[in-house]
Amino acid sequence: MINKETSDLTSYTAPYDSYLGKIRESIIYSVGLGACLIAHIIYLIYYFSYGPKFMGYFNIFSVTFYIILLILNFRIKSRHYLITAAIVEIMAHASAAIIFGGWPQGFGLYLLMIMPVPFFIPVKKMLTPYLISLTSFILFLIMCYNFSRTRTAPGFYSSHNRELDTVVYFFNVFMGAGVLFYVSTIYLLTHELMRRKLTAQNESLMKLASIDPLTELFNRRAMGEYLKLIQTNSSHSGSGYVIGIGDIDNFKKINDTYGHSAGDEALRAAAAVFAKCVPSEGYASRWGGEEFLFVIPNADIDKGVVISERIRLAVKDEHFSSDTGDFTISITIGVFKGGPDDDIEKVISKADEQLYIGKKNGKDRTQYIS
Ligand code: GH3
Ligand code: MG
Ligand code: MG
Repeated sequence: MINKETSDLTSYTAPYDSYLGKIRESIIYSVGLGACLIAHIIYLIYYFSYGPKFMGYFNIFSVTFYIILLILNFRIKSRHYLITAAIVEIMAHASAAIIFGGWPQGFGLYLLMIMPVPFFIPVKKMLTPYLISLTSFILFLIMCYNFSRTRTAPGFYSSHNRELDTVVYFFNVFMGAGVLFYVSTIYLLTHELMRRKLTAQNESLMKLASIDPLTELFNRRAMGEYLKLIQTNSSHSGSGYVIGIGDIDNFKKINDTYGHSAGDEALRAAAAVFAKCVPSEGYASRWGGEEFLFVIPNADIDKGVVISERIRLAVKDEHFSSDTGDFTISITIGVFKGGPDDDIEKVISKADEQLYIGKKNGKDRTQYIS
């Protein structure tokens, strides 16, 4: 029974309003850029201590560059430009470090490790990640060809320390892997967040599209879908079902005498009666203006009539008040049984026919063929 669930429609935003949604994008980017800044401060200290000096100067540029990116991170909205800028810096830095520091320190690894990263960044042109990635790969090939066969690079000082090379090599392995883990994690989290958001929005939209706002019962469109389902189930299982169509008696007069909003109040109360009396395996809907349709699967006409009478008497029991006086309402319900071979549209029109007969026979009754 959908009307029991509609009251918590707003709770559908809950799944994505979780800890994931609360992590601010600027904080996530600060962590990455901050890590890059720290790494470059370490490189800077290393190069000024052990040479080559040129790389020390290069790292002054890099440290300044990441400080600027960190500031921009809190100023601009299109943060993916920051990642693209960082990728370009990593490629330039790695190339310069190979040229001036030699191949053994492992800076070539960055040129390979950075290759998947452009594919994680949202871009306007699909070709962009391929171009950035290929540039990195071509740089790797050029560096590898020129410098991998010589232990020292041009311009490097003669007393080259191989043990320090190994330390820097491992540092670079960890940093490169860290970049990959970090970027992949952000990609994973943002996509999961997006997926949850979309699911929640779809569910809310589905509910909005299938619920009548006044009565909070299924609307006619949604009920049509359930009826199709019930007919399919019936033809598979061989069991019958019962359809009842109720129409409030003299409702035009109620509106005219007590006002439209009092009429609305009566409609809501009648809907609540349907929601309460139709058993949980069945469905109730607002079929039209002051018409309600209910369906009960695996039921015979006797069960349908019992439920219908329960609804009719409960509706009669409701009391309303308005500026022009107190009033009660009554309802006429036509009930008809459908079988596995019946077309459900026909069963609906037969129930409608019973309703019409019920109105002609004096209203406030359940009309059926036993
Ligand atoms: P009968 O006993 O033969 O069913 O007579 P009736 O007056 O109920 O039937 P009729 O079809 O002439 O009038 C139905 C009325 O229901 C007319 C319309 O203004 C009213 N109605 C339809 N939807 C709403 C609604 O959402 N709110 C209110 N207040 N009235 C509505
Ligand atoms: Mg009516
Ligand atoms: Mg009517």
